[in-house]
Amino acid sequence: MLSAARRSIAVTGVVQGVGFRPYVHSLASRLGLSGFVRNRAGGVIIEVEGAADALDRFVSELRGRPPPLARIEELSCEERQPRGEAGFRIDPSESRPGGTAFISPDVATCPDCLRELDDPGDRRHRYPFLNCTNCGPRLTIVTGAPYDRERTTMAAFAMCADCRREYDDPRDRRFHAQPTCCPRCGPSLRVLDARALPVDAPAPVAYAARALLEGRIGAIKGLGGYHLACDARSERAVVALRARKSREEKPFAMMVADLAAAEALAHVSGAERELLLSPARPVVLLRRLAGAPVAPSVAPRDPLLGIMLPYTPLHHLLLRETRAPLVMTSGNRSDEPIAHEEADAFDRLQGIADFFLAHDRPIHTRCDDSVVRVVGGRPLPIRRSRGSAPMPSSLPVPLREPTLALGGQLKSVFALAEGRRAFLSHHLGDLDHPAALRAWEQSIARYRELCRIEPRHLVHDLHPDYASTRWAEEQALPRIAVQHHHAHFASCLAENGLTGPAIGVCFDGTGYGLDGTIWGGEFLVGDLRRVERAAHLLAVPMPGGEQAIREPWRMAVSYLRAAGEDVEADGVLLRMLERGVSCPLTSSMGRLFDAAAAIAGLRGRVSYEGQRAIELEWLATGADGEPPYPVELDDGVVDTRPLIRALARDAREGLAAARIARRFHSSVVELIARTCLWLRRRGAPDSVALSGGVFMNAILLEEASQRLSGLGFRVLRHRLVPPNDGGLALGQLAAAAVME
Ligand SMILES: [Zn+2]
Ligand SMILES: [Zn+2]
Repeated sequence: MLSAARRSIAVTGVVQGVGFRPYVHSLASRLGLSGFVRNRAGGVIIEVEGAADALDRFVSELRGRPPPLARIEELSCEERQPRGEAGFRIDPSESRPGGTAFISPDVATCPDCLRELDDPGDRRHRYPFLNCTNCGPRLTIVTGAPYDRERTTMAAFAMCADCRREYDDPRDRRFHAQPTCCPRCGPSLRVLDARALPVDAPAPVAYAARALLEGRIGAIKGLGGYHLACDARSERAVVALRARKSREEKPFAMMVADLAAAEALAHVSGAERELLLSPARPVVLLRRLAGAPVAPSVAPRDPLLGIMLPYTPLHHLLLRETRAPLVMTSGNRSDEPIAHEEADAFDRLQGIADFFLAHDRPIHTRCDDSVVRVVGGRPLPIRRSRGSAPMPSSLPVPLREPTLALGGQLKSVFALAEGRRAFLSHHLGDLDHPAALRAWEQSIARYRELCRIEPRHLVHDLHPDYASTRWAEEQALPRIAVQHHHAHFASCLAENGLTGPAIGVCFDGTGYGLDGTIWGGEFLVGDLRRVERAAHLLAVPMPGGEQAIREPWRMAVSYLRAAGEDVEADGVLLRMLERGVSCPLTSSMGRLFDAAAAIAGLRGRVSYEGQRAIELEWLATGADGEPPYPVELDDGVVDTRPLIRALARDAREGLAAARIARRFHSSVVELIARTCLWLRRRGAPDSVALSGGVFMNAILLEEASQRLSGLGFRVLRHRLVPPNDGGLALGQLAAAAVME
């Protein structure tokens, strides 16, 4: 007898590698439906046949309660002629080219797998590579689309009979779990010494734990690359790691065994707890507890600690063994890309690591840990990488042609997009390093293949000297340039699903301006297509150009001189300023932070970008509300010289640096509010987008949001992509969609 009806259901989104087909199989079987499900590039196709009301229930359950890791983007149904089939089956994947493909991000070990890890009776008891359809490596091991075992780095491991049985059983949690394996058939751990020679260690995890507790530094192969690890309580070990890695002061991230261990070191709010435990398992920046047992050099003077929980079985085993917080920082020297290939890691990390805890499951795509901070009760991404990339973001306006957005120069992230879908890459670091540039180029090629998007347009930053701009010029594709702060503004609009018009408050360190000067304290008014630079900070000379970024006191001299204060400084520097030699002009808010910090008493060079702004925020955190310094607003130019004069007076009179820092923050909030009010009086819209790296500053973001809301503005902020240059590519795409 023929069934009542048959439907063909096309589903797109992140539905491969997330247990979607087993879920469909069990749902169809439960409802007594026949038919099939099949992976294809970009999603799955389902045909189901049976009673009409059962078909309706099938579709509504699919829509309403998909498996936890799936993200359904579109679901469309068509009626088909019933065939009278019996049973429901999972068909082999289609591997025809065409159609965008989705790759799932890597997923932290799920509770079911953790139970097996701990169960002495389970055949995967203490096996460091166990995973299932609900967890495990994805992006980092995928070598092609659609997602199948032969197109992962697990292809070289032939499944044993037991694993194969689970893999083939639609009722099993490991049904079509592509990276599934067990101690009999899967990867294994090994230990190598400082010269990368094999060490006879029958229990590699115990060996590594002991070595770490003895104060040694280990290179530990994780999901997206090698971490350099040491005991976070041992000042000696942490200092040694800093010296060997050439990382002077930038805080290190830590991994702790569980939530309780995190709470022993830092305050954890509800929102932060959720992030710590999320399947993406980012590093969460948490407010450290007084007296937290962490070596001073982990995060010198920093009131925050970057903490993450274990996200692979290996991490779980290691942390249980050490029972101590571990520093877990990217396995590289300084800002080079994270090491992920065996030979390269052994080569580059020799001299840093005392031992290696390695394994034989290759990492195809390197991926650093993501970093998030909670501001105003909501997540603010600082770095969007492992666990989030390459989850697509949605553009407010569809692109007419497939487009590749190249991002910026620092904290580089590119994005490949088609229609409304934008696939933002993982974090690729600073393209100043030739190695990073090579990795960036290689990743672009890989994403093209994985996402199956062949770009026909390029969009890049306006800066003529960015490596990405030069790369774009060498390609035989039409390209457009988007001004840096316009792209920041557009990224904030885009992730809020808007096209404008709005005011864009875009504050950062450096961006190439339309007039050839260095912008960074900008009030833009406009939409995705076009913006007017409606107001900006008064431009001041940046003596020595880039050198002024590394030596922030140069900006103090420049600002003090501009403000008519007496300055005692190096004669060469003063002559430079007098003659305007090597003194590009900048309206950067980042440089104003540098000047304020130096005048407030923070001396010396900085060892990483934005360090002074971060330190000023730390200082201000320790003080109560202080009145703002005066600022003049003169026809769209925010004159900060009165601020500098008052701040210098406070410093001369010996006001504590914390109170100066606090007053300075109040001043920036006030100048944002006043300028936005002035713009609104002149007809600007009352939506305000806050973007640019300066808005990683929690005091500023939170207080500016509150102040603007209080004045009746609608405040737009980032929650999906970072406000820094890591979010630039999304804005470039959104702008390109309306500019093409
Ligand atoms: Zn699992
Ligand atoms: Zn097996």
